[in-house]
Amino acid sequence: MRQQGWILAVINQKGGVGKTTTAVNLAVGFALGGEPTLLVDADPQANATSGLGLDPRTAPRNLFQWIQDWLAHSSGDLIEPPILETTRPNLHLIPASIDLAGVDVMLASRIARETILKSLLSPLQERYRWIVIDTPPSLGILTINALTAADGLIVPVQCEYYALEGLSQLLQTIDLVRQHLNPRVEIWKVLLTMHDSRTRLAEQVEQEVRKFFGAKVARSVIPRNIRVSESPSFGQSVLEYDPRSRGAQAYLEFVEEVKAYAASCTG
Ligand code: ADP
Ligand code: MG
Repeated sequence: MRQQGWILAVINQKGGVGKTTTAVNLAVGFALGGEPTLLVDADPQANATSGLGLDPRTAPRNLFQWIQDWLAHSSGDLIEPPILETTRPNLHLIPASIDLAGVDVMLASRIARETILKSLLSPLQERYRWIVIDTPPSLGILTINALTAADGLIVPVQCEYYALEGLSQLLQTIDLVRQHLNPRVEIWKVLLTMHDSRTRLAEQVEQEVRKFFGAKVARSVIPRNIRVSESPSFGQSVLEYDPRSRGAQAYLEFVEEVKAYAASCTG
């Protein structure tokens, strides 16, 4: 087994497709399996932070301050990472805050601005088997940093009419990052989310996405499930809130698929 932990980024520049839900459930799923896991909330909306039941406004330190510290010292080694415990065994969090919305401007003229997150997170791969990054709904500097830091990408695609729209732009961005910043990054899994099996549309979208992405598409499909949408307001993942729900069962299967994929990677 590879010694270093894996860094996964959950990415799609569209909002509301299930990125945060997927990041939270992946992280909780890895942790429930006994593997040390770090969830990194890189979205100014901080939904992953609050989804785990933590208040982004009262966190002592957060990702934004970590980036600021790094810019001030130019060496991540000297700076303690802003890691929070989450009351769950094996699961730690680096919280987000609304200040992250200003990172694009703050970094506009910085050299090597795309590699900051990689520099900060790489040393933590010795401590965590999994580092899962939740990203904002844009292809801005935070998302580029996540792509540059990641070994693998998880791309949630919502089963709705415009599902494939914007994905070619995403693929182009991934290609550019691969050429210039991070040659090993690749899509591990495309995950169909909010699938409503009562509609023909969802079936059509599933077929289209499978045709387009082939074997990259996860076998598990996440159903549209009320328990999934209720769980964040209780500060829990659906795996904790209602482990027997269809949504939780699907996410648990997905966690196993991702673990199996990692095991098949040689890098
Ligand atoms: P993103 O991070 O891409 O913006 P979210 O994960 O926040 O997307 O999901 C958008 C909304 O859809 C949230 O309110 C979330 O609770 C809800 N949601 C996500 N997945 C499901 C699902 N499988 N079934 C029902 N609601 C879902
Ligand atoms: Mg989100």
